[in-house]
Amino acid sequence: TVEIRNLHKSFGKLEVLKGIDFTVESGQVVCVIGPSGSGKSTLLRCVNLLEQPTSGTVVVDGIDLTDPDADIDAARRHIGMVFQQFNLFPHLTVRRNVTIAQERVLKRSKGECDHVARENLEKVGLIDKIAAYPPQLSGGQQQRVAIARALAMNPSLMLFDEPTSALDPELVGDVLSVMRKLAEDGMTMLVVTHEMGFAREVADRVVFMDGGVIVEDGPPEQVIADPQHERTREFLSRVL
Ligand code: ATP
Ligand code: MG
Repeated sequence: TVEIRNLHKSFGKLEVLKGIDFTVESGQVVCVIGPSGSGKSTLLRCVNLLEQPTSGTVVVDGIDLTDPDADIDAARRHIGMVFQQFNLFPHLTVRRNVTIAQERVLKRSKGECDHVARENLEKVGLIDKIAAYPPQLSGGQQQRVAIARALAMNPSLMLFDEPTSALDPELVGDVLSVMRKLAEDGMTMLVVTHEMGFAREVADRVVFMDGGVIVEDGPPEQVIADPQHERTREFLSRVL
């Protein structure tokens, strides 16, 4: 569960998030849509404290991450993040990319790291690439390795920031189907995406952001198919 209350974030004088409130219940998929610069990435980065919120609270699984006494590192271990750029280590094999944080952060044994890596590479359909290096893989394959790497940490929440935006169109589907499977398996997911088909079919809720505020928040059949606000309609007319 993620609970965001009155979240504000400024960079110097620039106020990027202007009081964001929403909740992602356990097992829900929430898609965040909105124009460039509206604060979507900043919002996601505040959820795992890659950015320090200026004010407001972010509570993940009952732990208030904005409480100065909270064990941020412990809480973060349960939050997986997948970026537009996959951020794999190019000089390490797929296996090593998926085991390194398990070993260093979770202190799992080599055998267990390997077992978990195999399990998650199976899940994303890439067990046959376990010995390859990232530059030998397509963008879609690299992104699926990045997802396997995040899953190997047993997250209770997965954050995705435009995970398919850097991919050639023909590679988008494989990544979305891995994400769809994750959703079906009950993963709690907060997904920034421009893939309206995915949002419509997979999301429990769609949140439309513009100018650092949430303009509209509701089920996809409402926000995408029957938006109530002019700004949402105008945005959708450009992306659909
Ligand atoms: P896009 O769809 O292009 O990814 P976005 O909705 O994710 O856009 P953000 O990346 O959250 O938007 O950026 C929101 C605003 O905050 C932008 O004006 C951006 O320039 C500004 N911003 C983001 N990060 C920083 C930073 N570290 N320092 C200063 N300004 C920043
Ligand atoms: Mg962004």
